Amino acid sequence: MMIGVLLVCCLWIWNLWRERRREVHRRRIAIQCRICNCTYAIPKKAATITQCPSCGSHNQRGALDPI
Ligand SMILES: [Zn+2]
Repeated sequence: MMIGVLLVCCLWIWNLWRERRREVHRRRIAIQCRICNCTYAIPKKAATITQCPSCGSHNQRGALDPI
């Protein structure tokens, strides 16, 4: 029984770690517009200043703070 509990705990922690990594990656490529507050993804090699697809205002990369 202990092995089963340990296995479930390990899977849970691994899943938590994977989710956090995914969130960090998403925040690295996502930009939140300061004007209309919409979030959009940009490619990694894009310029530092990007244009919002919905309102057209310019936003700086890395403005989204991690939790
Ligand atoms: Zn916008």
